[in-house]
Amino acid sequence: MKKLVIAIDGPAGSGKSTAARLLAERLGLLYLDTGAMYRAATLACIRKGVNFDADDDIINCVRNCNIRLQYQEGKLEVYLDGREVTEDIRLPVVNKHISRVSEILEVRKLMVEKQRSIGSQGAVVEGRDITTVVFPDADFKFYLDADFDVRVDRRYKEVVSKGMGVDREEVAKDLENRDRSDTTRKYGPLRKAEDAVYIDTTGMSIEDVVREMLRHITAADNDPVSFF
Ligand code: C5P
Repeated sequence: MKKLVIAIDGPAGSGKSTAARLLAERLGLLYLDTGAMYRAATLACIRKGVNFDADDDIINCVRNCNIRLQYQEGKLEVYLDGREVTEDIRLPVVNKHISRVSEILEVRKLMVEKQRSIGSQGAVVEGRDITTVVFPDADFKFYLDADFDVRVDRRYKEVVSKGMGVDREEVAKDLENRDRSDTTRKYGPLRKAEDAVYIDTTGMSIEDVVREMLRHITAADNDPVSFF
C-alpha cells in the first residue's frame, strides 16, 4: 500500500493540530504532532536546568533525552525519559523557552531526523517546517492560517478548558512572540511552501477544515488514496 504523507504547516491557533488529528483518523494514518516534540525537548532543558544562553548545553540535553509519542484511544501521550509529560509540555514556562530551543540548527536536525523516520511510514505530520524542510515532497501539503484574534481566542479557550489560570493578554503576547520567532528564525522558519494549499480557517469549524482538506486529497488525479 502506498505510504501517504500529508504535511501541514501553520501558526499556533490556526487549527492545524485538531484538523491533522481528525484527518489522520479519517484516513487511518498516524498523526505526528511535531510541536509536541519541540515542547518535550524544551521541557527536558528546563528540568535539567540548562543554561539557555549556551547552545551546546541545549544541544547536549536534547541529544541525550528520550522523547516518545504514543496514542491511547486517539489521544496523544508524550513521554520524556520514560515519564509522562503530556500536560507539562503545555505549561507557560515551556512556551517561554521554546523559541530559543527551536531556533538552534542542531536541535532542528535531531528533530527532523526523528520526524522523517516516523512520518515516512505514512502519516499526517504538522508543524512549522513540514511542507518546506521535513517532507517537501509530501503527497499533499497544506498551510492553515487564521486571523490573529481568532487564533488568540482559540488558544485562550484551550488553556482555560485545561483549568490553567491565564489572562487573554498573556496568551496574545505569547502568540505574538512565537509568531515572530517562528517566521524570522534562520533555520526552518514558518512560511507557506509555494505548492501548499492555503486554507484560511477564520470562519470555519474544524469539520469544515477537514472536509476541505479531504476534498483536495480526493480530487487529486494521481490516485493517491488507496485508503478509501
Ligand atoms: O505547534 P505548537 O504550537 O505546539 O509548537 C510549539 C513551538 O514549537 C512553535 O512555536 C515552534 O517554536 C516550535 N516548532 C518548530 N517546528 C515545528 C513545530 C513546532 O519550531 N515543526
